[in-house]
Amino acid sequence: MTTVDKRLLEDWLLDPALAPDAELDVLAPLYRAAERHELALPFCAACENPLELDQEVCDYCGGTEPDWRTVELRGTVHAATLMHRREPGLVHAQAPYPIVDVELASGHRLLMTSAQPADGVPAIGGTVRIGFRRLGGVAIPAIDTLEDE
Ligand SMILES: [Zn+2]
Repeated sequence: MTTVDKRLLEDWLLDPALAPDAELDVLAPLYRAAERHELALPFCAACENPLELDQEVCDYCGGTEPDWRTVELRGTVHAATLMHRREPGLVHAQAPYPIVDVELASGHRLLMTSAQPADGVPAIGGTVRIGFRRLGGVAIPAIDTLEDE
């Protein structure tokens, strides 16, 4: 283990024990890109249809090979809610926190919270910029800022 600045490992929301293994997880391409502050998402290698993060077979062509590509760090709020459930020891937030369903220009939909603590949710249809949280040393996409259109 190398010594790392502890501030970089402390997420505002979750306990570092919940961090994924960035190299072994099926989302390893996403985590590797996130380390560079890029967002990589899977497309069907055969027909370029955007795939769900864990999707193994393309809905359109039946292709089974994902092609992870970086996409624009910008999206639109499709839905948003405040999470009130508390899980002491795992969730560090002491107040309800936002969960946002973001529709990206690439056609993907991602659920994420905010990069910084927030006690409200962005407006549906609002434009958001995607940034990153750090959980146990792993970079994870999160809403960075709201943008006015
Ligand atoms: Zn396809």
